[in-house]
Amino acid sequence: MTWSGTRPYRSHTNHLEEPTDERAVVEGVEVSTDHLVGGQRLASSDRFADVSPIDEQIIAQVARGDADTVDLAVAAADGAAEAWGRTPPKERAAVLHRIADGVEARVEELSVVETRDNGSLLRSHRRSVMPRVARNFRFFADKLLELEREGETSFNGNRERFSWDPSGVTAVIGPWNAPLMLATWRIAPALAAGNAVVHKPAEWAPLSASLLGDIALDAGLVPGAYNVVQGIGEEAGAALVAHPGVTRIAFTGSVETGRLVAAAAAANLTPASLELGGKSPFLIFADADPSAALDQAVGQFDNAGQVCLAGTRLLIESSIYDAFLERFAEATGHVVQGDPRDEATDIGPLISREHFERVDGFVRAGHAEGSKALVGGGPNDDLGGLYYRPTLFVDVPRGSALLTREVFGPVLTAQPFRDEAEAIALANETEYGLAATVYTGDEARARRVGEQLVAGTVWVNCFFVRDLDAPFGGSRNSGIGREGGRWSFDFYADVKNVVTAPSSGG
Ligand code: NAD
Repeated sequence: MTWSGTRPYRSHTNHLEEPTDERAVVEGVEVSTDHLVGGQRLASSDRFADVSPIDEQIIAQVARGDADTVDLAVAAADGAAEAWGRTPPKERAAVLHRIADGVEARVEELSVVETRDNGSLLRSHRRSVMPRVARNFRFFADKLLELEREGETSFNGNRERFSWDPSGVTAVIGPWNAPLMLATWRIAPALAAGNAVVHKPAEWAPLSASLLGDIALDAGLVPGAYNVVQGIGEEAGAALVAHPGVTRIAFTGSVETGRLVAAAAAANLTPASLELGGKSPFLIFADADPSAALDQAVGQFDNAGQVCLAGTRLLIESSIYDAFLERFAEATGHVVQGDPRDEATDIGPLISREHFERVDGFVRAGHAEGSKALVGGGPNDDLGGLYYRPTLFVDVPRGSALLTREVFGPVLTAQPFRDEAEAIALANETEYGLAATVYTGDEARARRVGEQLVAGTVWVNCFFVRDLDAPFGGSRNSGIGREGGRWSFDFYADVKNVVTAPSSGG
């Protein structure tokens, strides 16, 4: 894999600002609140308040990047991309493994900061989310070396060499619900492919990206190969995706923003990989293991429903509908809502006041249209703040926003179905196609139903099993493209075939 250079562009920023490093102390951990550009911290004259959803307190004032900051970061990335892209794959892989080591050594710090910043469970960060961040780096480091070996082949006596060449500067823009895990799922393969990265984290949870910057520099990553521009989506985010120096855009977020990103990408013909929202069905057939199905169905409230893959539409076979819902309501009563830092807590708060009002708007509209809240149905008045009760609506009229729009909160619906055909029809009655879950004791049925569901991932008798070597992405409005394993390299790299005739040796 060799450096091929990014497309030419002219930086419109002609001054380099003085390096600074404003730091906040969050849960005892020092975090830079500035950008990271070319291996140095950089401030902006403006800052935005980072508010913790746990208690709505301001925990940091973060640099508010603009088009000039983006220009500096893309220029720095472009400069570093050459050295990083020329670094032999074995050495690149070693650096990625060292980043993973750094993540593992700082799991506790990353976990407490991320929980304070986005309100998701501390115990999940410690046990699964941050270890997965490290795994993102290790997996793509190893995959890089595997592709190196697999690239040698032949055709009609000619030697062929497939290579995944660095493509230049990758823009990574992500959401707040699992900020570091989702960002590194894009950053790790982009770096492995030899690209430099400019990362614009979500303004609702910007801090873990800053810690990753420290870890990457400590690991010996070429300065400028990983840059962080903090800021607001409509400002720094929009400037980044419109930048002509960017050669790949990896965006994770809502469908609405995805459309804006795709439009900006189209103007520069920049390839974009979009991982967007979902409204996934969760099918429960009468022959399913009832306890396993129940546990996973209640588990759809995880992270207060702020999970893109959540199966928010429960579709239940009519013969078990009433009994299942009775058990569901009982089991939901045992879900503990509270401070996400407490080990006993199952569900924390919603991310922001604005999002809380949005979720509440869906629920109020549901009540108004005659949908019935079998469980929950409003804010958690005992806890106050941004805590919203796990809610399940039944008798929801066809076409209701509760069935068609992504709420991204702890709000599920239940619908009965008579037979397999109706289950599939209801499941596919959506503009989304991110994931689907099926609980059944019949393997032949699982296969039939799985084949007919429109979704990037179908889980049968399980949920959230994520093989990093498998294709991942959304159908319909849930996204464009697939990543994972080789699919990631196919996106981030410039894939090339060198064909050499047998006589070339002379
Ligand atoms: P969002 O679309 O509001 O924001 C996502 C990111 O885009 C943020 O960093 C934001 O600053 C940035 N942004 C906003 N406007 C922009 C613009 N004009 N140009 C460029 N960037 C811009 O989404 P969110 O509320 O942060 O996240 C929730 C959404 O993300 C949900 O729809 C959820 O389903 C989706 N999501 C999808 C996946 C997946 O893998 N498919 C994973 C997690 C979340």
